[in-house]
Amino acid sequence: MEKVLVSACLLGWRVRYDGGAKTLASETLARWQAEGRVVAVCPEVDAGLPTPRAPAEIIGGDGADVLAGAARVVDPSGEHLTEAFVEGAALALRLCRRHAIRVAVLTEHSPSCGSTHIYDGSFSGTRQPGAGITTALLRQQGVQVFGQNDIAAADRALRAL
Ligand code: SF4
Repeated sequence: MEKVLVSACLLGWRVRYDGGAKTLASETLARWQAEGRVVAVCPEVDAGLPTPRAPAEIIGGDGADVLAGAARVVDPSGEHLTEAFVEGAALALRLCRRHAIRVAVLTEHSPSCGSTHIYDGSFSGTRQPGAGITTALLRQQGVQVFGQNDIAAADRALRAL
Protein backbone atom coordinates (compact mmCIF):
# COMPACT_ATOMS: atom_id res chain seq x y z
CA MET A 1 0.00 0.00 0.00
CA GLU A 2 1.53 3.29 -1.13
CA LYS A 3 1.66 5.87 1.66
CA VAL A 4 0.94 9.58 1.23
CA LEU A 5 2.49 12.44 3.17
CA VAL A 6 -0.06 14.96 4.50
CA SER A 7 0.45 18.23 6.36
CA ALA A 8 -0.47 17.66 10.00
CA CYS A 9 -2.56 20.85 10.17
CA LEU A 10 -4.82 19.44 7.41
CA LEU A 11 -5.39 16.42 9.66
CA GLY A 12 -6.64 18.67 12.47
CA TRP A 13 -3.41 18.86 14.43
CA ARG A 14 -3.11 22.27 16.14
CA VAL A 15 0.39 22.96 14.87
CA ARG A 16 -0.02 26.16 12.88
CA TYR A 17 1.87 29.31 13.83
CA ASP A 18 -1.31 30.70 15.47
CA GLY A 19 -1.93 27.52 17.46
CA GLY A 20 -4.77 26.40 15.21
CA ALA A 21 -5.36 23.70 12.64
CA LYS A 22 -6.49 23.88 9.02
CA THR A 23 -8.63 20.76 9.07
CA LEU A 24 -9.46 19.44 5.63
CA ALA A 25 -12.89 17.87 5.25
CA SER A 26 -12.38 15.49 2.35
CA GLU A 27 -13.81 12.11 1.45
CA THR A 28 -10.54 11.29 -0.29
CA LEU A 29 -8.54 12.06 2.83
CA ALA A 30 -10.95 10.04 4.99
CA ARG A 31 -10.56 7.10 2.62
CA TRP A 32 -6.77 7.35 2.71
CA GLN A 33 -6.91 7.36 6.50
CA ALA A 34 -9.17 4.31 6.54
CA GLU A 35 -6.72 2.58 4.19
CA GLY A 36 -3.82 3.38 6.52
CA ARG A 37 -1.97 5.40 3.90
CA VAL A 38 -1.53 8.71 5.70
CA VAL A 39 1.79 9.82 7.20
CA ALA A 40 1.55 13.19 8.98
CA VAL A 41 4.24 15.84 8.83
CA CYS A 42 4.72 19.32 10.22
CA PRO A 43 8.16 20.44 9.08
CA GLU A 44 8.21 23.50 11.34
CA VAL A 45 7.26 21.70 14.55
CA ASP A 46 9.47 18.74 13.62
CA ALA A 47 12.38 21.18 13.36
CA GLY A 48 11.74 22.30 16.93
CA LEU A 49 9.83 25.54 16.40
CA PRO A 50 7.23 26.26 19.09
CA THR A 51 3.45 26.48 18.70
CA PRO A 52 2.21 29.14 18.65
CA ARG A 53 5.04 30.95 16.90
CA ALA A 54 5.47 34.15 14.93
CA PRO A 55 4.38 33.97 11.30
CA ALA A 56 7.26 33.53 8.88
CA GLU A 57 7.74 34.46 5.24
CA ILE A 58 10.42 33.95 2.62
CA ILE A 59 12.29 37.08 1.55
CA GLY A 60 14.02 37.24 -1.82
CA GLY A 61 12.47 34.29 -3.60
CA ASP A 62 10.72 30.98 -3.00
CA GLY A 63 11.51 27.67 -1.35
CA ALA A 64 13.92 26.57 -4.07
CA ASP A 65 15.80 29.86 -3.68
CA VAL A 66 16.09 29.25 0.07
CA LEU A 67 17.54 25.80 -0.58
CA ALA A 68 20.01 27.37 -3.01
CA GLY A 69 21.07 29.91 -0.39
CA ALA A 70 19.62 32.82 -2.38
CA ALA A 71 16.65 33.69 -0.14
CA ARG A 72 15.90 33.52 3.58
CA VAL A 73 13.09 33.03 6.07
CA VAL A 74 12.30 35.67 8.65
CA ASP A 75 9.57 36.53 11.13
CA PRO A 76 8.09 40.04 11.36
CA SER A 77 10.77 41.11 13.87
CA GLY A 78 13.44 40.18 11.34
CA GLU A 79 14.65 37.10 13.20
CA HIS A 80 16.26 34.64 10.82
CA LEU A 81 14.54 31.25 10.71
CA THR A 82 16.11 29.84 7.57
CA GLU A 83 18.05 27.10 9.31
CA ALA A 84 15.01 25.69 11.10
CA PHE A 85 12.89 25.73 7.95
CA VAL A 86 15.56 23.94 5.92
CA GLU A 87 15.97 21.41 8.72
CA GLY A 88 12.19 20.83 8.70
CA ALA A 89 12.30 20.17 4.97
CA ALA A 90 15.14 17.67 5.43
CA LEU A 91 13.15 15.86 8.13
CA ALA A 92 10.12 15.67 5.84
CA LEU A 93 12.29 14.18 3.10
CA ARG A 94 13.64 11.63 5.57
CA LEU A 95 10.05 10.66 6.41
CA CYS A 96 9.29 10.20 2.71
CA ARG A 97 12.31 7.95 2.28
CA ARG A 98 11.44 5.89 5.37
CA HIS A 99 7.95 5.20 4.02
CA ALA A 100 8.85 5.18 0.29
CA ILE A 101 6.43 8.07 -0.22
CA ARG A 102 6.05 9.50 -3.72
CA VAL A 103 2.92 11.67 -3.30
CA ALA A 104 2.24 14.44 -0.77
CA VAL A 105 -0.63 16.80 0.01
CA LEU A 106 0.66 19.88 1.80
CA THR A 107 -0.96 23.08 2.99
CA GLU A 108 -1.14 25.80 0.38
CA HIS A 109 0.55 29.21 0.96
CA SER A 110 2.80 28.13 3.85
CA PRO A 111 6.52 29.03 3.60
CA SER A 112 7.20 25.34 4.26
CA CYS A 113 4.29 23.53 2.66
CA GLY A 114 2.92 25.87 -0.03
CA SER A 115 2.81 24.37 -3.51
CA THR A 116 1.57 27.03 -5.94
CA HIS A 117 1.68 30.35 -4.06
CA ILE A 118 3.44 31.69 -0.98
CA TYR A 119 3.50 35.06 0.76
CA ASP A 120 5.93 37.55 -0.71
CA GLY A 121 8.00 38.43 2.36
CA SER A 122 6.37 41.81 2.97
CA PHE A 123 4.02 40.56 5.72
CA SER A 124 1.24 42.43 3.94
CA GLY A 125 -0.86 39.40 3.03
CA THR A 126 0.37 39.49 -0.57
CA ARG A 127 0.90 36.17 -2.31
CA GLN A 128 3.16 35.39 -5.23
CA PRO A 129 3.66 32.27 -7.34
CA GLY A 130 6.10 29.84 -5.79
CA ALA A 131 6.44 26.86 -3.49
CA GLY A 132 7.57 26.53 0.10
CA ILE A 133 10.84 25.04 1.23
CA THR A 134 9.64 21.54 2.11
CA THR A 135 7.64 21.35 -1.11
CA ALA A 136 10.65 22.47 -3.14
CA LEU A 137 12.95 19.90 -1.56
CA LEU A 138 10.47 17.05 -1.95
CA ARG A 139 9.89 17.94 -5.60
CA GLN A 140 13.63 18.09 -6.23
CA GLN A 141 13.79 14.55 -4.89
CA GLY A 142 10.94 13.25 -7.06
CA VAL A 143 7.97 13.45 -4.70
CA GLN A 144 4.80 14.79 -6.35
CA VAL A 145 3.42 17.55 -4.09
CA PHE A 146 -0.14 18.88 -4.33
CA GLY A 147 -2.02 21.55 -2.40
CA GLN A 148 -5.11 20.52 -0.44
CA ASN A 149 -7.36 21.93 -3.17
CA ASP A 150 -5.81 19.46 -5.61
CA ILE A 151 -6.34 16.36 -3.51
CA ALA A 152 -8.25 14.72 -6.36
CA ALA A 153 -5.16 15.06 -8.55
CA ALA A 154 -3.05 13.65 -5.71
CA ASP A 155 -5.39 10.67 -5.50
CA ARG A 156 -5.02 10.06 -9.23
CA ALA A 157 -1.23 10.30 -8.93
CA LEU A 158 -1.27 7.83 -6.05
CA ARG A 159 -3.31 5.32 -8.01
CA ALA A 160 -1.08 5.72 -11.06
CA LEU A 161 2.02 4.61 -9.14
FE1 SF4 B 1 0.83 22.99 8.54
FE2 SF4 B 1 3.07 22.78 7.12
FE3 SF4 B 1 2.65 24.93 8.63
FE4 SF4 B 1 3.16 22.61 9.80
S1 SF4 B 1 4.56 23.74 8.49
S2 SF4 B 1 1.55 24.07 10.38
S3 SF4 B 1 2.14 21.20 8.41
S4 SF4 B 1 1.45 24.31 6.84
